[in-house]
Amino acid sequence: MTSQSPAADAWTRSNPPLLRFLNACLNEFSAETSGTVADYIPELSKADPAHFGISLATLDGHVYEVGDSRVPFTIQSMSKPFVFALALDVLGASRVESAIGVEPSGDPFNSIRLNSDNHPFNPMVNAGAIACTGLICESKGDAAFEEIHKALGRFAGRELDVDEAVYASESQTGDRNRAIAYLLKTNAVIADNVAAVLDVYFRQCAVLVSARDIAVMAATLANRGINPVTGEQVMTPYAISRTLSVMTSSGMYDYAGEWIYRIGIPAKSGVGGGILAALPARLGLGSYSPKLDKHGNSVRGIKVCEALSSHYDLHMLNRSDDARNAVIADYDIGKSPSRRVRRPQEREIIAAHDQDVWIIELVGTLSLSAVDYVSRRLAARPRPQFVIFDLHRVTSTTRAGARLVAEAFAELATLNVTVVISGVKRASREWDSLREWTAELRNVRDFYLLDTAIEWVEDQIVYRYGGSIDFHETTELDEQLLLAGLSEEELADLASLCTIRSYQAGAKIVATGNPADSLFFLRSGAVHVTLPDGVRLATLTAGMAFGEMALLESTRSADVLADMSATAYEVPLGDFERFRKQHPRAGERIMRNLAQLLADRLIVANAKVDILTSM
Ligand code: GLN
Repeated sequence: MTSQSPAADAWTRSNPPLLRFLNACLNEFSAETSGTVADYIPELSKADPAHFGISLATLDGHVYEVGDSRVPFTIQSMSKPFVFALALDVLGASRVESAIGVEPSGDPFNSIRLNSDNHPFNPMVNAGAIACTGLICESKGDAAFEEIHKALGRFAGRELDVDEAVYASESQTGDRNRAIAYLLKTNAVIADNVAAVLDVYFRQCAVLVSARDIAVMAATLANRGINPVTGEQVMTPYAISRTLSVMTSSGMYDYAGEWIYRIGIPAKSGVGGGILAALPARLGLGSYSPKLDKHGNSVRGIKVCEALSSHYDLHMLNRSDDARNAVIADYDIGKSPSRRVRRPQEREIIAAHDQDVWIIELVGTLSLSAVDYVSRRLAARPRPQFVIFDLHRVTSTTRAGARLVAEAFAELATLNVTVVISGVKRASREWDSLREWTAELRNVRDFYLLDTAIEWVEDQIVYRYGGSIDFHETTELDEQLLLAGLSEEELADLASLCTIRSYQAGAKIVATGNPADSLFFLRSGAVHVTLPDGVRLATLTAGMAFGEMALLESTRSADVLADMSATAYEVPLGDFERFRKQHPRAGERIMRNLAQLLADRLIVANAKVDILTSM
């Protein structure tokens, strides 16, 4: 244990608001003692009616828990959605859909009634769940239970036990389910292995979970099948969305319509006393309290869900979104040039064409409405030659958003506008989804860093408008910006103090923390200045000085690395100071040039800050 200061300790013990809310629910609804513990499976009647646990899992993987959140109980019907998702992924949607309907039945969970096709109404009632288990048996044979057991464990993020006593109890007394299974067999919904299918079904219902487990399982449903605690993609988003659909229409049996009307969160209950509720893109809730109402739903669990939904206004159909929030900033390149320090001629060309490059920084989800808004916003200004979309703050792309992006880019291609994407890591999910839609397009370029993207576009502008960037050209001291205005004699004196150095690509020329005891004038090639954490401060080409901060500081505050083979004049600082004393006019000139160069950099840096704060 590490010791903590009293202040830090108090802070870590502080009660986050959601935890406080769950505790308030626990206190308030503990007083609720109505309902009865299920006893049609005799072993379930042994549950302690006082037990009450609540857990809430967020999609960033945090789990809040209060009360008896670790007390194990059998999952029962809450296994149904997960086995349905498994069946969809293992057998494919068309096989599953050919056997089991998706209409609410309006009947209790254990109804022995099939639909007009003699198929189960949906996978959330016993008939449909037994049919689902039958499908897994059909495909996995003797390994069916193991397959289901493993899948449930992946949703929970840990291996789950089975309550053998509850299993045995239901298998001895479960004649109603046996009747349902035979009915399914006569209608060819399940094959001639009724006993085996029921055995797997009873076992799957006897898997032990806690309120915490079901919160994580629910959060996995809410998170398109990615367990937010383990990060594992447990099932496909397709299977998950279809599972949530049937939970929405039928998860709470003959209370389902009322439930979705009042509470508006897809949910599933079990006769063991559990309720799981999965609010897509938000959270998963698990509650455990064994006393049930007449529909077979936990009385306190329903109260917790009602309170959560109404207190935080979480009804899933009570939503809005403002697509305009997707644009964090948009501006032309004149407002925010790259960190590449340009020579005056290049700077002039770029300045003359600053309207030709439009930069749009986006944030959040690239949804249909966000992309539509961005494309209208772009169309409302004069047509640029380049558009840079910076996506490094984009957290997800919906399929609709990606499709619209592709359509918008294709349109830009017909107008000869080059599209540059920055901020998307290769091989990330965002990359894959964008690539899926834009792979065919020839006008799309990508760079990971926005600054690199801007630099590339600047180069294109310079090339297009007659400037040339020759990295191999060699410049002399009289072309150095820092030395502008020095006389020939002064330059010659300075030259005599310099040594010409050569560097290989990648060489570290200046290292952070070392004494700042010389100045460099880049003669050929290119170097970049970076902070030790890799943030690039500037790229310099021939004609520019580096290490010039030595005039103001005694240790190096950044690294300088050669981008390609490079040569530089190096002057020891002591010699340079003597030179300034001997040539006071030149010394003053250099300091003024330095002030000017620093001021230029500050203007760019301020403009970049301003762009983001003025939106
Ligand atoms: N194993 C139970 C049954 O089939 C599950 C029912 C439920 O939880 N509603 O009867």
